[in-house]
This record gives sequence, structure tokens and C-alpha cells, in this order.
Amino acid sequence: MSQSYIDLHLHTLFSDGISTPEEVAKEAHNMDLAAIALTDHDTIEGCQRQAEACVEYGIEFIPGTELSTDIQGHEMHLLGYFLDIENEELIRETTRYQENRTNRVHDLVQQLNSIGVGLHADQVFDLAKCKAPGRPHVARALVKHGFCGTTDEAFTRYLRKGAPGWTPKVNAPFEEGIRLIHQAGGIAVMAHPGLNKIDHLIPDMVRAGLDGIECWHSKHPKSTTKRYREMAARLGLLSTGGSDCHGPGKGHPIIGTVRVPYEILDEMKRRLPRVSSNMQI
Ligand code: AMP
Ligand code: ZN
Ligand code: FE
Ligand code: FE
Repeated sequence: MSQSYIDLHLHTLFSDGISTPEEVAKEAHNMDLAAIALTDHDTIEGCQRQAEACVEYGIEFIPGTELSTDIQGHEMHLLGYFLDIENEELIRETTRYQENRTNRVHDLVQQLNSIGVGLHADQVFDLAKCKAPGRPHVARALVKHGFCGTTDEAFTRYLRKGAPGWTPKVNAPFEEGIRLIHQAGGIAVMAHPGLNKIDHLIPDMVRAGLDGIECWHSKHPKSTTKRYREMAARLGLLSTGGSDCHGPGKGHPIIGTVRVPYEILDEMKRRLPRVSSNMQI
């Protein structure tokens, strides 16, 4: 049998992606993917629709999220996989994460106003139309209302860390994020470590219950993937991967372009407590 591939890091318009769950499923089908996970920022709202759309195409679906957490003052994106999307605590707690995002948009707009950029928070919310607004929505609003020519320019001039509009967001403690994912039956994975530069904190994360590292990512060069795969094996962690596709962007969507072999998903399933107990019955 030929090799099957998966993509375990995808966004829709339920956070800062620009595609619907149905469009994502269609693109996954076009890329001949065997399985995908939805990992919208701080929400699981799109998972039900994504699951239904995947059934249509015969694609295996893993419900997930990407929680914004804080570890020792660093922002750390924590991926959760195989979540029970009806878990009450997960539904309740993610609304708190979403409140942090909404508050951050207000703070960010205030900061922009203080440097002479007259954007209104409502212009961001009207465009975002979701419960997990983020900087990409602010960037799109800046373009729509004529403050910038492109979203890239919006990030460079105003929104990237260190730029005059930069505003931090309050993030939940990393340990809370781990616990929230675990109590919902999921496994917790450190997202895009190559972008975070906090490798020195990985031993602390493992002690707090981290299950895996996202080794494949669209912004990881091959050497970075190799380095993290070796690190994961050494620490007894899972290796996972995905594109972090947010939609078509400037051209074709990048879904499926990071070639993650299906066997990775088998490893993840072996780590799941409820799967192993089911197998004993
Ligand atoms: P937030 O979670 O609101 O801080 O926004 C983070 C998101 O912004 C990331 O998931 C990326 O999708 C996007 N992003 C971060 N930095 C940039 C950048 N320099 N240019 C374009 N998009 C970016
Ligand atoms: Zn994003
Ligand atoms: Fe991220
Ligand atoms: Fe992401």
C-alpha cells in the first residue's frame, strides 16, 4: 500500500483561519489526506461541522484545539488532540480563553489609537465574526479600513512583537491547559517549538504532563524537524505534525504540504488512555 499522509494543525473561520470547516475538508480531500485534525485557537466550536464534512470525504477526523498558554512568562501554544467535544469543563473553560482574546483586541485597538491609528474595536469584531478573535483579524481590519495596504504590512508596522501596536494577551497557565486537555480525554502537544525558542522549558513541560512535540510544521526546516524528532524520542514524547494552514492566503492553501506519515497517528492512539482500556475489553 502507498504511504498515507495526515495534517494535524489546521484553522478555520471559527478562529483566525479564513476557510469554513467544509472547505478545509474539501482541500484535505484534494490533497489526498487520510486524516486531519482541527486545531482552532482556544475553541472547539468548528469540530462538529469538520467531523461531518470529513465523513462525506471518507477522511478520518481528530477533534482538537490550540490553547494559548503561559509558561514562565512565555506564550506557549498547546495543541490538544482526541478531545471529547461535549466535555463540559472544556466548553466552559475555553470561553475564558476566548474572553482573554476579546479583551486583548480592545487593548490592542486602544494601543493603536494612542499612536494615531483610528481603528475601532467593532470594526475588528464585525470582520472576525467569531469568539476567538486574534491579531490576524486586526490586520485584516487595518487593511479593510485603509490603514495598511496588506496584512503583512499590518504585522510588520504595528502588530508583531516589538512593533508600536504590540499588545500582550493574558494567557492561562500552561499547567491548567494540560489539565484541561487531559480531563477531556485528550493528549497535549507543544506547538511549533522551532518558532518559540523555549526549548529550555521542555523538561518542565514534561514534568507537567506534556505528551508530545509538533516536529513537522510549515515553518520548520527539515533540520528542525529532525532535531525535535530526536528530542521527542529521547524524552519518551510523541512526534506530531501539521501545516498550521489558515486558508488560501496569497495562493494555494498549505494544507497537506507538510508530509506527516499516517503512522504518527497510530502512535498517538496508543498513548490514549481510553483506547488502551477499550482494547483490553
Ligand atoms: P494571536 O494569537 O492573536 O497573537 O495571533 C497569532 C496568529 O497571528 C498566528 O497564529 C499567526 O496566524 C498570525 N501571525 C503571527 N505573526 C504573524 C506575522 N508576522 N505575519 C502574519 N501573520 C502572523
Ligand atoms: Zn492562527
Ligand atoms: Fe500557534
Ligand atoms: Fe496554529
